[in-house]
Amino acid sequence: TEARTTYKRVLLKISGEALMGDQAYGLHPPTVQRIAREVQSVHELGVEICMVIGGGNIFRGLSGSAQGMERSTADYMGMLATVMNALAMQSALEGLGIHTRVQSAIPMDTVSEPYIRRRAVRHLEKKRVVIFAAGTGNPYFTTDTAATLRASEMHCEAIFKGTKVDGVYDKDPKKFPDAKRYDKITYDDVLQQHLAVMDASAIALARDNSLPIVVFSLDEPGGFRGILAGQGTYTIVR
Ligand code: UDP
Repeated sequence: TEARTTYKRVLLKISGEALMGDQAYGLHPPTVQRIAREVQSVHELGVEICMVIGGGNIFRGLSGSAQGMERSTADYMGMLATVMNALAMQSALEGLGIHTRVQSAIPMDTVSEPYIRRRAVRHLEKKRVVIFAAGTGNPYFTTDTAATLRASEMHCEAIFKGTKVDGVYDKDPKKFPDAKRYDKITYDDVLQQHLAVMDASAIALARDNSLPIVVFSLDEPGGFRGILAGQGTYTIVR
């Protein structure tokens, strides 16, 4: 059966850890390639795709500052980590024949384009996958906030947050077998119940811009395409 989707433009957010595979640190190229194929299968549906990738597999500002580094400096290092992940994803996607552009919030002209909103929109219209790197470019933020910001700027219909579990649960499903998954939940309930979907600033920004967040499992082969076509299990926050 032919998969169909009503989505025209979406943003896929993945954490840096999603690129680690079974390793404790860094990049696992076969895993990067696997996720690139997930993106490819959605690209084939004609959906315009942008991506934000975290940096936690390489460096997190908070852990640097916990060890005595100046917080903003540590955060800039975290943002640089996301650029490495973006370049790895770009390489994997281009290996599949998909045209991509990396746009960095911290200008780094030798390795990427600078973030220019209107140029990014143009790339999307030409069906290039745009990978937004370096988060928001500001310390004290996260790539979840960056994903919400860029998805709002690009007028994406939703953020798809690929995780290790197939949605948002009332407690950790890996620890509690009786954990209950929500089909849908409001931004306010996520905030009030401190559910680990995205950090509070990202949730609040999504709420203020009426941007739905779809939480789904990236471990499920074909999962991303399935979710876009309305199949499989997920949680929608809106
Ligand atoms: N970061 C930042 N500003 C941003 C985005 C990211 O300072 O707008 C830094 C921050 O130090 C963060 C690190 O980059 O810890 C990696 O991003 P994040 O923790 O969001 O990655 P993920 O958890 O998604 O892998």
